[in-house]
Amino acid sequence: MRSPSISLRLTGWVAAVFLCGFIVFGTVIWCDLAWTLSKGRDKTLSGRANRLVELLESSKGDTKARLDVKFADFQEATPEGHLIQVFDDRGERVFPRPGRNAEAVAWPSIDPGEQAINLDIEMHDRPFRVLVLPISVDGRKLRIFVAGQLDDNQRLLARLSTGVLWTVPALLVISTLAGYFVSRRALSPIYSFIESARLISIGSLSQRLQAPNSRDEMAQLAETCNDMLARLETAVGQITRFTTDASHELRSPLSYIRTLAEYALRRPNVDAESAEGFRDIVTETEAASRLLEDMLTLARADASRVEAIFQPVDLTSAVRAAVDKLPSLGETGHRFSVDIDRETLWVMGDAASLSRLAWILIDNAIKYTPSGMRITISLSSTDHEVSLVVRDNGVGIPKEALPRIFERFFRVDPSRGQTEGVGLGLAIGKWIAESHRGRITVESEEGVGSTFRATFPRVNVTHSLLSNESYVFSDHP
Ligand code: ADP
Repeated sequence: MRSPSISLRLTGWVAAVFLCGFIVFGTVIWCDLAWTLSKGRDKTLSGRANRLVELLESSKGDTKARLDVKFADFQEATPEGHLIQVFDDRGERVFPRPGRNAEAVAWPSIDPGEQAINLDIEMHDRPFRVLVLPISVDGRKLRIFVAGQLDDNQRLLARLSTGVLWTVPALLVISTLAGYFVSRRALSPIYSFIESARLISIGSLSQRLQAPNSRDEMAQLAETCNDMLARLETAVGQITRFTTDASHELRSPLSYIRTLAEYALRRPNVDAESAEGFRDIVTETEAASRLLEDMLTLARADASRVEAIFQPVDLTSAVRAAVDKLPSLGETGHRFSVDIDRETLWVMGDAASLSRLAWILIDNAIKYTPSGMRITISLSSTDHEVSLVVRDNGVGIPKEALPRIFERFFRVDPSRGQTEGVGLGLAIGKWIAESHRGRITVESEEGVGSTFRATFPRVNVTHSLLSNESYVFSDHP
């Protein structure tokens, strides 16, 4: 499975990091607020208890009745005063005095010893914080119990939790969109590199990637790729020159050997065995010359050194020129069907190259179709395109070989048809089609047959061919 694009992966990472950040941030804020509120509550309870201690200290020697009044006033003046009570060390309530109205509170049955303690309790299904403060007044041990409700604190924390839970998804969406936008922007030079690199082929190694006007990693990448392209261009140029020169240099000795063999064959006193040998030499040198010509064509194509003059060409006439080379029925035993109208079909190109392409397809159909089977050659056109179709009922091409069929020197299995050929025909055919802004495709089934289709852009020509040979053309009629 193809992994997702870098921008998507970056966006995923940004979203994941932001999500973790939001969770940590929300948790820290929540814990901090909970801690601050709890400390605040304890401080308030402790303040209330200390004020009561001061009151008791300053009321030493007062009568019981006076003390009751003072305690009642204190309760009155203190928020949640009804939750403040004083017990002695036996657990008997001292204030409010037993028998007087007092809040029925579930005081914790805990002995604080000498230390003040704070704890959470539940009363009437509500949460409370309690401070138990042991004191000694006039040698008498007392415990002050001060309670405060926790409802407000818990409501505040619940509101914070709800706020965070609503905000996190919204912030996550915003950060994801921002992450995607920023990563697309940061990677935009890469997309333009991909576009440019796709257009660079062995025949256009002089092209370069457009480096961005910056000194960042993208500019370095473009420069590195461009340096590599320059080195490749030099290397391919050397190989191409070598192939061109070698093919060129081999031409003359080959034709010399062939001429000598043909000359020897014509001599009257040549014996049968030698004649057989000379005929083999002629056949082999012919094949070698064809191979050299093909290699020369492709080497020149790679070096973009083919000097074809592109002009409006009638594809019908170019294909007819190839069809005229068809062997007669008796020679190959095939049944040829030529479906070409007299209509003129203009394309921009070179007539000889187009004829050569047609012949490559026809020749292959003959080579890979058993004698007696049908081979159909037809031309079809639409408003915008012209297609040459060569169909046969021959051996066909295995599915796994189809993607490689236009590669140089690729042959499916030389033993399937005639052994003639080295696997350069379709590579040349493809180059001819593409250099004419066309394309070549194949449909084939092993044992059933093959259909090769070469399609070119059709041009509309308004001209005065015979008078001044000037052409006005456009891509579409
Ligand atoms: P060759 O010189 O071997 O014919 P080509 O480049 O023209 O080289 O073709 C490459 C290979 O494609 C051939 O070897 C053959 O196996 C296969 N091929 C081409 N045309 C046909 C066809 N019409 N039917 C079956 N196989 C074909």
